[in-house]
Amino acid sequence: MRQCSVEQNKEKCNCTYEPCSRKGICCECVRYHWRSGELPACFFPADVERTYDRSVERFIETRQERER
Ligand code: SF4
Repeated sequence: MRQCSVEQNKEKCNCTYEPCSRKGICCECVRYHWRSGELPACFFPADVERTYDRSVERFIETRQERER
């Protein structure tokens, strides 16, 4: 059975919210945020990530703004 690469995932995680028990456990992270209509930190650039607004709406707005 495949093992979760928690430590490697943590090295790449850009989430600044501390503490979070889901850090590095990406499947739990996605599930947790998706339940609230949100996306994980790694879907956002650093300045938006720091606002902790992880809504799908903010994701779409950010993408539209930065693709112009
Ligand atoms: S994005 Fe959310 S669930 Fe994922 S590590 Fe950060 S605070 Fe935790």
